[in-house]
Amino acid sequence: MMIKPNPLVMIPGPTPIARSVMEQLGRETISYNDLRFSVEFKGLIEDMKSLWRCEDGMVFIAGGSGTMAMEMGISNTASRGERVLVCSNGFFGDRYVNICERKGFDLDVIRAEWGKTVTTEEIEAHLAKRPSSVVVVTHVETSTGVEFPLREAASMIRAGHPDTLLVVDGVASVGGAEFYMDWGIDIMLTCSQKCLGAPPGLGAVWASPRAIQKRESMPTIAESYVDFVQWIPVMKDTMKYWGTPAVNMVWALREGVRLIKEEGIPERDRRHRLYAEAVRRAMGALGFKHKAPIELASPTVTVFLYPDEGIDDAAFRAAVYDEGAQIAPCQGQFLGKGFRIGHMGNITPSTIVSLIAAVERGCVRQGIKIELGSALAEAQRVLTGV
Ligand SMILES: *Cc1c(COP(=O)(O)O)cnc(C)c1O
Repeated sequence: MMIKPNPLVMIPGPTPIARSVMEQLGRETISYNDLRFSVEFKGLIEDMKSLWRCEDGMVFIAGGSGTMAMEMGISNTASRGERVLVCSNGFFGDRYVNICERKGFDLDVIRAEWGKTVTTEEIEAHLAKRPSSVVVVTHVETSTGVEFPLREAASMIRAGHPDTLLVVDGVASVGGAEFYMDWGIDIMLTCSQKCLGAPPGLGAVWASPRAIQKRESMPTIAESYVDFVQWIPVMKDTMKYWGTPAVNMVWALREGVRLIKEEGIPERDRRHRLYAEAVRRAMGALGFKHKAPIELASPTVTVFLYPDEGIDDAAFRAAVYDEGAQIAPCQGQFLGKGFRIGHMGNITPSTIVSLIAAVERGCVRQGIKIELGSALAEAQRVLTGV
């Protein structure tokens, strides 16, 4: 039998895990209030604050997935009856709408056409008519591969609506696309298994001083586990207890964040954009068109649509899997019409080339007419800059 290693995980999370991150999971688990752990937990929190310029604010790290972090982000910034505007660019924006619908807000929603983004102008026009306590956006919408113009929108909101808090779902961007809390962001949230390059299991939420003040001005909230007030003492003094920290996952995330610190946020952004271009050009050579317009193309994940109805989506992705790379199905309106490639986290040009070679072989297996090597050549040109 042919040797069959695990396929490359080229989906928008989990992402390939560096050996040094994985090794943290094999360490002998110690108590969460053993000083040796609490010092490392504190180090992680401090690194996350300084890397993303949240020195005056707080970072919360708790067991759970990105959806838990979404719940934490909004539960602590808006109360029942307050006006909240959610800008949805697709599947995960709609998930935030659903979370908010359960909380009794005076909820407004602006939806973009799939593959486009809600614009800063639309938000500005909306807020002029209906001032909101909180605006929620998705930095990178994973179901469409669209990047929201975060910096522009954040400065518009800070300048024109200084009392409005900005909550950002950064699950598919933090550690991939550049951003800093001092752009005017009040809540940023993510989880361990996407661009941070650790296994699934931890959620992370950055909160500006304004966001912390907002929570402190609110009465007791309905949610318990995700309540900032429960976690603040722990995040200030990691010897304290609220819910048991996921000890080994904290170590793994700490190593993931150390790798980001070593690489640098701007460099990491540039690397992701280079890989995104390599993947786009390669897939273009095979006849797969990226859905997001180029000026909105996310650095971390790209959605490609099949050129015609003749391609069996599940069979195609299975063929690529057998050839050594896992790519993801589309979601929502694009389900069955194409596939998603995650090109995020701790990957290298070799990862990108292996992925593209697997897609080429998958095409051949499925009888899709392509010129072998054409996609690889495009990617190599982008990666080498010639
Ligand atoms: C993956 C993702 C989520 C959900 O994260 P889970 O860990 O699956 O709960 C939310 N928002 C975006 C943009 C995502 O990509």
